[in-house]
Amino acid sequence: MIKPAASAYRHLIRLLWVGMVICLLVIGGLLLRGLMLENSRSHQDTEKLISKAAELNAALLERTLNDHSRLLKNLSDLIRAETPRPILSRLLRNELETQPELMDLLILNKDGQIVNWTHDGQPPEVSDRPYYTEHRDNPTDRLVLSPPLASKVHTNQFFFSLSRPVFDAENAFAGTVVAIISIDRLAATFTVEQRDATTTMAVYDMAGRMLFRLPRMPGDSGTVIAEIANIPSGTTQTRTINISPFDGKERWSSVTHLATYPLWMAESVETQPMTDARYQRAIVALGLFMLFATPLFLLALKVSRQLHQQIRAETALQKSQDILIKQADELARSNAELEQFAYVASHDLRQPLRMVKSYVQLLERRLADKLDDDTRQMMHFAADGASRMDQMLISLLEYSRVGRKGEPLARLSSREGVDEALRFLNPAIHEAHASISITGTWPEIIARRDEFTRLMQNLIGNAIKYRSNERSPEIEISVAPDKLGWRFCVADNGIGIDPAQFERLFRVFQRLHTREKYEGTGIGLAVARKIVEHHGGRIWAESEGEGHGSRFCFILPARNPEQVIS
Ligand code: ADP
Repeated sequence: MIKPAASAYRHLIRLLWVGMVICLLVIGGLLLRGLMLENSRSHQDTEKLISKAAELNAALLERTLNDHSRLLKNLSDLIRAETPRPILSRLLRNELETQPELMDLLILNKDGQIVNWTHDGQPPEVSDRPYYTEHRDNPTDRLVLSPPLASKVHTNQFFFSLSRPVFDAENAFAGTVVAIISIDRLAATFTVEQRDATTTMAVYDMAGRMLFRLPRMPGDSGTVIAEIANIPSGTTQTRTINISPFDGKERWSSVTHLATYPLWMAESVETQPMTDARYQRAIVALGLFMLFATPLFLLALKVSRQLHQQIRAETALQKSQDILIKQADELARSNAELEQFAYVASHDLRQPLRMVKSYVQLLERRLADKLDDDTRQMMHFAADGASRMDQMLISLLEYSRVGRKGEPLARLSSREGVDEALRFLNPAIHEAHASISITGTWPEIIARRDEFTRLMQNLIGNAIKYRSNERSPEIEISVAPDKLGWRFCVADNGIGIDPAQFERLFRVFQRLHTREKYEGTGIGLAVARKIVEHHGGRIWAESEGEGHGSRFCFILPARNPEQVIS
């Protein structure tokens, strides 16, 4: 069976581990929450940054296009007002010089032929270009923005056009005015902007066709990006994720619609560095977690090991206690058997012994006149030996009876027990002229009346028997409270005892004197010890040596002796 202490330790170990797991969960939870907050903060920061950049660039492009739109409006008004062509030509050239992104300024007649432009020489055929066809097919006063187109004049150059229709005095379609905007040059106006390697910007038309991107890539103009083409109309600002067809990198873009032009301005950032940063933050969080968790875990492991050691020690202790209890039980059983044996032996041996004694005495009487002195003495020794043996058997019988038969445990007045013992000893007291004093407040005790009286009788009897020849015996019988119960003492001024012999005194048939000097069998103190121990107490002798008197004390517990013994 496990002692309560061991199960308490087990409970403690369970609590320890549960507590540790809760601690780790809390720490892990806090770190995870911190990590998520940090990720979302960095995500929001990036989002703010790229949408701000997209808005700024959109405003910049808007301003540039507004300039050209105004110019086209002026030109269309001047043509309507029939301004002479040389003046118009000069105006066109002036404008071309001041606007770096302008590749050409064209004036087309109602048949789509260039009637005025900013170059010398024969103008190309452009009547198929949207800056003519769109207006011819829908001649309303509006600005048309073309998709990116390859130049017919400037080889390997891409442009897009802004165009307006021209109407004559009767409001009939009379041609178009066109600003040819070089994509390369327009892109160059944005490159002054500081940008790191991971961010890009791009301009798209509503069909998702790229006008240009920064950093530039060969063939970027005209590339269609499906994610942009799929943005629902009416959207002013949105986010997309797409894989770049130029470098294969995934990018996250903030896309802003220009206020008055059918164009998208996109600012993009690579997703890989963001993922890397997230990964790094996760590693740092994991490191922090390990930093907290490892010592906690080690501490819990150490404490739990110590507790396990305690459990092992407790269990071992319990085992040895169980063994001790078992041994004590066996000892008690074998003692009981021995006592039974002693009782039976001493009882049954007395009968044949009495026969031996009687027949020796009979023989002694019958042969009294026929025997010589030596033989008579031998017969006497044999009879005396048989008597002594009988005495010893009686003593042994008395010893083995202690605790076996007699009165039950009961509450009794200890003083009455002493008085009864004194009554038994009255003749001896008188004969020895012993003075007896009784001191202390005599308590009620729980004991067997006959055994308590026997105990006192043995001790007081010895105090009388072992008196000194040099002084008349003075015996003090006392009682005092003790932390274990009550301490009773019988002190005399008799012959005293050598302290080296104290232990021997209480053993069966152990005597310090010959029978010739003092009568006795050596069982009195053995009986006294057995009685005291059966009452859960202990007994001991005190003396300052031979000639200095002696004192025999015993303690009886205040509680029920059966509880004490068990
Ligand atoms: P018995 O008196 O029959 O010899 P006990 O067991 O009573 O047996 O005593 C054992 C021995 O202890 C005695 O032989 C004696 O030597 C010693 N003894 C007992 N009581 C006293 C005493 N009051 N003073 C001196 N010696 C004592």
